[in-house]
Amino acid sequence: MEKESRHSNQSGISRRGFLSVGGAAVAGTTLSMRPGSVVEGRERQGGGAKIRKYKTLGRTGFEVSDLAVGGVPLRNTAVVRYAYEKGINYFDVAERYSGGAAEEAVGEAMQFMDRSKIFITTKIGMGNNDTVETVLDRCGQCLARMKTDYIDAFYMHGIGSVEALNNPVFHAATDRLKADGKIKFIGFSCHGPRGNRGDSMEDVLLAAAEDGRFDQVLYVYNFMNREVGDKILAALKAKNIGTTAMKTAPGMLRPTPFDPENPTEQQTQYIDRMVSRGRSREQAITGLRRQIERQHETYQNTRPFIEKYGIETEEQLRLASIHWVAQNPDMHTTCVGMNDLDIIDKIVPLSGTTLSPADEALLSDYETVLNDKYCRHGCNICADACPNGLPVSTIMRYAYYFECQGREKDAMLEYAALDEGDASLCIGCHAPCSGACPYGIDIQSTMLQAHSLLTL
Ligand code: SF4
Ligand code: SF4
Repeated sequence: MEKESRHSNQSGISRRGFLSVGGAAVAGTTLSMRPGSVVEGRERQGGGAKIRKYKTLGRTGFEVSDLAVGGVPLRNTAVVRYAYEKGINYFDVAERYSGGAAEEAVGEAMQFMDRSKIFITTKIGMGNNDTVETVLDRCGQCLARMKTDYIDAFYMHGIGSVEALNNPVFHAATDRLKADGKIKFIGFSCHGPRGNRGDSMEDVLLAAAEDGRFDQVLYVYNFMNREVGDKILAALKAKNIGTTAMKTAPGMLRPTPFDPENPTEQQTQYIDRMVSRGRSREQAITGLRRQIERQHETYQNTRPFIEKYGIETEEQLRLASIHWVAQNPDMHTTCVGMNDLDIIDKIVPLSGTTLSPADEALLSDYETVLNDKYCRHGCNICADACPNGLPVSTIMRYAYYFECQGREKDAMLEYAALDEGDASLCIGCHAPCSGACPYGIDIQSTMLQAHSLLTL
């Protein structure tokens, strides 16, 4: 069920008022900013838009904003507070996001929010050594970081197989946590198999719909996987399971030019990170150059599309992609990864609106452009095509983390930890995988590009 409603702004603080104070008093209380916060000491211009649509999150019965704070990059508590003031009431975090800093950002903002009006989901990754006691303990730490007595939804993080739905430790522990009033609902996030052991996202989600124990889920839904995504959505809707979306904006088109004498802030950070990991500065620059050259090649290939629509920034594509997901009445909320305030001002006006015909046309053409470039998250169709047992879907997902989400370190660590080996095996291979992707992705060359990226 969808509802148009007005989220009350308990303090009535405008963005200008909210932001201009930096670390000073707000509505009679003290705004605690982390040193180096993006808003610290800055006067910012702000839009007046507020969230206009709330949807019932399946069987939880909670009315959630159609756009949500996704916590992968979240570290700044001002983002949580500003999102709340704009009417966003869903926060998706995890124990491992920024080593607990995403949960802490929510916790630092907690005193400024009406707890009964927000919905918090957090997640823990289940390991082979976990016991009921360790899960109870980790949940307690999540509660402490978020300065709250209860978690609305407690998830298994990133499960990659149907079998994992039955994790007896998770179910036993969450039964206890529910009885103790520390969690209300359970769910899981899924973006397909991890390595070569696992099932497609579709198989996992359809099995979960049948399973019946899960109240809500977080999965990959975007205009590029609409066929699979809609099938999953229909199955979840039939069981009144809450639906939340992630990785809503696939692909990227335009590289930022690189001048070693005058690198951008992001490029400087990248080089510094590589140096701190033991690379020489020259190696880091070479790697960055290689990466940008490859992006430039993609850009050249997509130039007709870019010129046809007069696309100036990648953000235009990102916002249209997010909008496409958020407008779907059956997707209850759309999680957008964020750690700055500007993105909030950009997405909130999308709330409760539908894509314009022009944006529909743009996404339709964009889909064609990306078709043989974007490895669908959670897809596992080519799993048996590699005699070397390389986990193609997983490796391409790590490349996406690196390239599209700015999570270079995570991506490289995950890649290095793969049991199945890495894509250096593709060098000189006669590529029996060719033709295995129904979308026409050239698996060998894409894997080699991923390897080059993830081993810079
Ligand atoms: S390469 Fe193609 S078949 Fe293989 S996982 Fe990606 S989208 Fe699926
Ligand atoms: S090219 Fe790579 S992914 Fe394809 S079959 Fe060879 S080793 Fe496997």
